[in-house]
Amino acid sequence: MKTTTTHRLRNVALAALAAASILGGTVASGVFAQTAAPDAAQTLTVSQTEGPYFKVNSPERTSLVEEGMQGTLITITGQVLSGDGTPVASALVDFWQADAGGSYDNSGYNLRGHQYTDENGYYTLTTVVPGLYPGRTRHIHVKVQAPNGPVLTSQLYFPGEARNASDGIFDSSLLLPVVDNGDGTQSATFNFVVTTA
Ligand code: FE
Repeated sequence: MKTTTTHRLRNVALAALAAASILGGTVASGVFAQTAAPDAAQTLTVSQTEGPYFKVNSPERTSLVEEGMQGTLITITGQVLSGDGTPVASALVDFWQADAGGSYDNSGYNLRGHQYTDENGYYTLTTVVPGLYPGRTRHIHVKVQAPNGPVLTSQLYFPGEARNASDGIFDSSLLLPVVDNGDGTQSATFNFVVTTA
């Protein structure tokens, strides 16, 4: 009899524990649903060499296009995301690139600019397609940093480039899915996935 009673008490205790964990699960998922609805685990954007032409203190702007600038206009948009897919607001995104002739402006800030993502983690860059220069395939340099997070230094590439196959730095995960808009301009979307604080 005593054994039976103990057994029953133990079952009651186990049932209470099970109920508590179900309740805990319900509460946890409710809180989860109120966050920014992360998509799923994301692969962190590949880090790449900075190269020799980065300059600090680029101007804050979303368009690098200036009057008289040569080249095909391209708009690149996307989000900065954390590793679980949550959009990162106020992330720093700093771009620099060669002009259509393949030259960097190392005395000034032509084709250099930084911006911060909006409340949904979006950035927009309007620029010209960079030209080729010796030893490299076509690319745009970028640094991305979540607030208080580490700086990701990387590069973005263009599809259909003959030099992609021979460029030792090229990484296909950094290819822009470039779309021809039919009016002489191009557009692409690219999300950066970064380590947050
Ligand atoms: Fe470069």
